[in-house]
Amino acid sequence: MKKKPLLALLTSGGDAPGMNAAIRALTLRALEVGYRVIGFKSGYNGLLDEDYIDLDREQVAGLIHNGGTLIKSARCERMKEPAGILQAANSLRKLAVDALVVIGGDGSFRGATEIAKHWQGQLIGIPGTIDNDINGTEQTIGFATAIDTALDCIDKIRDTADAFERIFVVEVMGRHCGFIAMECGLASAAEQIICPELIDDERSYLNTLMGDIRSDLDQHRGQSYVIVLAEHALSLSCDELAKRIALETGIDTRATVLGYVQRGGAPVAGDRILATQMGVCAVDAITTGHNQIMIGIKDNQICHFDLAKSGEKNARNAAIIQRLERFHLN
Ligand code: ADP
Repeated sequence: MKKKPLLALLTSGGDAPGMNAAIRALTLRALEVGYRVIGFKSGYNGLLDEDYIDLDREQVAGLIHNGGTLIKSARCERMKEPAGILQAANSLRKLAVDALVVIGGDGSFRGATEIAKHWQGQLIGIPGTIDNDINGTEQTIGFATAIDTALDCIDKIRDTADAFERIFVVEVMGRHCGFIAMECGLASAAEQIICPELIDDERSYLNTLMGDIRSDLDQHRGQSYVIVLAEHALSLSCDELAKRIALETGIDTRATVLGYVQRGGAPVAGDRILATQMGVCAVDAITTGHNQIMIGIKDNQICHFDLAKSGEKNARNAAIIQRLERFHLN
């Protein structure tokens, strides 16, 4: 009997709600077109250690609504060394993998691009990260859920801010990128949205910000004031920023760091559907001979993008600045 071609998957970097939905879609579609499917455990660690599970219909049943990832995600420092890359390529050859799908962020795709220099099989990326910080796709798997989770928290903080006439600084995730801050700042009608893309000179940015806050408070006395801060946007921590605002305004200012709560939870419908579309289209890309591409979405259509270019940020930064200039009403 002819041996089935082998498709391997891995989830790498920070986990994102919807990764499981992508695993389900990839598995079901790949089985349908005649592949055997395996999932390496804990990102590139499983690939280097040849630690994997077989994925079949039973494994992925009842998976679509679960956060996290069935095959676990992890960071893998060994992949950042040339020896790690060679070992990854050797494992793929040894296991006779025909195609590898990496679900992760741009760091994970850098690893995949390195592997491609030493391995002839097909390599496809699926963007799975809550940060939405990947070039070549308008949306990543997990972003929609993370915004809703953060928004829910910010809405609750707004209630307290209203009751006490306090200023709140709420730090959201984003890893040097302001997409989560921007979207939940817009949706919560935050008075200030602090994104790294807006800051050239931190000193002058902070001076302007303090002036704006003081003048807003003068004009709207007795109103709550919520500031959404993207992590790493400033050299000040969320707490330090709150202290500085309290000092400059004389108003009780509290800091809240939302943290890992934003990475968890059941994926919202949008993420489940995006993950399903991307999973199906990744397998279709493999069966039609594509290699070293990332599956993206643009204007509501699935598209292919050069995997090696997925880490470029300039166009995405400009999109944040334009969107905030146009839609942040205060
Ligand atoms: P993300 O994929 O979410 O951006 P990371 O940047 O932490 O997350 O990367 C996840 C993993 O991808 C790393 O732990 C490492 O295994 C691999 N990786 C990241 N950058 C590189 C690189 N330059 N070369 C090889 N592998 C890399």
